[in-house]
Amino acid sequence: MDITQHDAVTHFWCPQLGQTLHFGYCRQARDGLPCPRVVACFSPHFDVEAFLAQCYTAEERERFLAPVPGRLERLGQALAAAGRAQPEDEA
Ligand code: SF4
Repeated sequence: MDITQHDAVTHFWCPQLGQTLHFGYCRQARDGLPCPRVVACFSPHFDVEAFLAQCYTAEERERFLAPVPGRLERLGQALAAAGRAQPEDEA
């Protein structure tokens, strides 16, 4: 399968960026892998799940389809990481 075959398909409104986007952008939006919302956004346009199954390994799909952490979860992760980075004599 040609991985670029759906690149010109457009989704009328990206809920993250607030604009029209084409699939060529969305399939590389997360460090070169698809955006986690790609199935929801592009399923009305073509069989996205079949495309993903043919073009990406199960491990890759699991990685990029995992939900993105929310703002509070990211803040908690940053605080936990900062706490671990403190020298022991300050803790
Ligand atoms: S797949 Fe992601 S980047 Fe593309 S339109 Fe949907 S939310 Fe936006």
